[in-house]
Amino acid sequence: MINNNYHYHNMTRLLITLIIFFSHPVISKEINLFTSRHYDSDFKLYKKFTQKTGIKVNIINGKSKVLEKRIYEEGKNSKADVLFLADAGALYSAQKKNLFTKIESKKINNKLPKNLRNDFWIAITKRARVLFYNPEKINKKDVQNISYEDLSNKKWKNSIAIRQANNIYNQSLIASLLEYNGPKNTFIWLKDFVNNFVRSPQGNDRAQILLVASGEAKLAIANTYYYALMLSGKKGDNQKKAAEKVKPIFPNQNNRGTHINISGAGILKNSPNKKNSLKFIEFLLTNEAQTHICNNSFEFPVIDNVKTNSFIDKIGKNFKEDNTISLSIYGERQTEAFKLMKKAGWN
Ligand code: FE
Repeated sequence: MINNNYHYHNMTRLLITLIIFFSHPVISKEINLFTSRHYDSDFKLYKKFTQKTGIKVNIINGKSKVLEKRIYEEGKNSKADVLFLADAGALYSAQKKNLFTKIESKKINNKLPKNLRNDFWIAITKRARVLFYNPEKINKKDVQNISYEDLSNKKWKNSIAIRQANNIYNQSLIASLLEYNGPKNTFIWLKDFVNNFVRSPQGNDRAQILLVASGEAKLAIANTYYYALMLSGKKGDNQKKAAEKVKPIFPNQNNRGTHINISGAGILKNSPNKKNSLKFIEFLLTNEAQTHICNNSFEFPVIDNVKTNSFIDKIGKNFKEDNTISLSIYGERQTEAFKLMKKAGWN
């Protein structure tokens, strides 16, 4: 009887082990992707990944701060595997909260230059924050050698359209100026720059481009992909026509290059599916995925030899990028940047 009981227990244990063993690959054939990106085209791409690998991608969409807070608060119980965010500053913020695990992948290291990755997150797309002008309203000569620093010049009084200080793209841009020019000079610059605003900042990046197209502002500051999005007609005929009236100008071509930001992803420290998460990120860096993402969102690819569509080509890809600054600086100096922006009267 004792023997039988013992035997019975062993059989049960074996059975449970077998169930766990066989169900394990099924359970882990998924990842939970936390992302602030909201493109339907991204979601279509993830389906391709699932078709290729059998790994399902569950999408949890939200603002970066909300996602970061949730992952932080859930701690060890978090089911989040990958965090995919726009702006290096947002990634840095999650890194500071110790949410990420180190990414070790020769595949990634071979593909991406060092300025587009660190131990915890890697760039998936690139964006440039540039100027837009209307060639019918101002002479190209007046802008072709322009730098961000020049935008404080009195000749641009009542000329510049840009969104609010709480916008993270602006904070990253000012963080880079802080790094290059120091707090004192940046604050002086900020006051003069704000004085050149054509109106109290409002609206999104596309709204600034529209203001230049209508002739109300001489210069707009916006990310390149918004311009391409307008050109594509996806935002309607009016915005397409407006975009066709303006041209991009890449600042600081004669020195450090134009301000570049990224959207990027990292694997979370408490991720239950780390291997599949790495596969997912490696997939996002394939030629196929890069082509898909960039041709839909109009961002720049992070790897070489990606064929991009005519809208991206129209922005122009052959410009000098500021790739000397560490992207982490955007995060490190963002709070400082925001405070100075507000102090200078940037609402
Ligand atoms: Fe954006």
